[in-house]
Amino acid sequence: MQKTAEPSFRQSVDLMFNRAVALMDLPAGLEEKIRVCNATYTVRFGVRLRGRVQTFTGYRSVHSEHMEPVKGGIRYAPEVNQDEVEALAALMTYKCALVEAPFGGSKGGLCIDPREWEEHELEQITRRFAYELIKRDLIHPAQNVPAPDMGTGEREMAWISDQYNRMNTADINSRACVTGKPINAGGIQGRVEATGRGVQYALREFFRHPEDMAAAGLTGSLDGKRIIVQGLGNVGYHAALFLSEEDGARITGIVERDGALHNPDGLNVRAVRDWIVRHGGVSDYPDATHSVDGAALLETECDILIPAALEGVITMENAPRIKAPLIIEAANGPVTAGADEILRARGTVIIPDMYANAGGVTVSYFEWVKNLSHIRFGRMQRRQEEARHELIVHELERLSADRGLGWELSPGFKEKYLRGADELELVRSGLDDTMRSAYQSMREVWHGRDDVEDLRTAAYLVSIGKVAASYRAKGL
Ligand code: GLU
Repeated sequence: MQKTAEPSFRQSVDLMFNRAVALMDLPAGLEEKIRVCNATYTVRFGVRLRGRVQTFTGYRSVHSEHMEPVKGGIRYAPEVNQDEVEALAALMTYKCALVEAPFGGSKGGLCIDPREWEEHELEQITRRFAYELIKRDLIHPAQNVPAPDMGTGEREMAWISDQYNRMNTADINSRACVTGKPINAGGIQGRVEATGRGVQYALREFFRHPEDMAAAGLTGSLDGKRIIVQGLGNVGYHAALFLSEEDGARITGIVERDGALHNPDGLNVRAVRDWIVRHGGVSDYPDATHSVDGAALLETECDILIPAALEGVITMENAPRIKAPLIIEAANGPVTAGADEILRARGTVIIPDMYANAGGVTVSYFEWVKNLSHIRFGRMQRRQEEARHELIVHELERLSADRGLGWELSPGFKEKYLRGADELELVRSGLDDTMRSAYQSMREVWHGRDDVEDLRTAAYLVSIGKVAASYRAKGL
């Protein structure tokens, strides 16, 4: 790689893939088959709005169909382009393989600034885009299942689901055509927070391993750690919120579109988010120092840096000045391949995107299963579980009374133990388990092989190995 040229997002993904695949012994040709994007559909459609026909450009890329349906979000942003969508689709393939979500990789995008349109206009645009994709089976419960991404959320997913349903009135599984829907439209508890929650679980798992912490020069626990978050959107907000409220971490910096907030004592994440909602940005937020040059805060001293916005924010230009010993990529592709090389050489530990932000697709997987099984998680077992727990508690209390032992269960224990798990608890438990086991699989490779220096290469090795095995099983 030329030292001077900053690789694009797509080149970065390919370079990182190549780095990993060079350490594998794949049959000739299979490596190429896995790397390339299978197909990208570009659509240009018109919608009559504001008295004229407005033309929009959208994409849906399918990177790998080694498993179907293929899965990945739909992004609404003005700078969406084919290369970006293809890079994101490739990351979906590796992400799903790594966390064992049984999907191939896909991604979609629409070139649009959603803030420029009214809600009813966005609905018309979304429905028309969905129509174009549905009629080509690029949205389909068995073939291609989108989800939210930057610029989209529950509302857009509900429109897409409804559009699919109108076009497939007899498909009993129609709700499984898209995930990230609101609860009342077939969604699942905990999907909105899922990616941020996954970042929290990933960090908790990292901090369970002293050897891994030592690689980053960190000790102790998450309690009191200084964290800088870039982007307080859905992912960054939830990650920062949970880490500060539940793990005792200090959010010392928040970088947003209109500058950065810094407070060494820790920012109140809820208050900052409220401020952004009310004022459209972080400027003038009272309990912090505001600086217009947001990018400079990325280079400020902290223990953990969480880029949670766009790709390509840590580059060959600013990487040498990044001080955080640990970076967790909550966004897709925030560190370019060039920056990755610089940071690796300096000993910075990077928890890679395909693992760090996999919480979203993991809970999407649970939602898809819920839609196909037509029943909410826990509905059959919850009360039965409670009844069995009650049996044990009563038996213990009876024994204690009969034998005069004077045992008393603490009220907190009793309350917690007697309550059967609801859907949200089951989702969190499934997500936690997924994040823990995927981390284990990466770290085994990271520490187990002399030729693997970093978690990203380890993640690629695990996921490419799984994709390759699945192609081989198909006889390719
Ligand atoms: N857009 C999210 C991602 O990049 C979620 C994808 C999904 O749930 O399918 O992982």
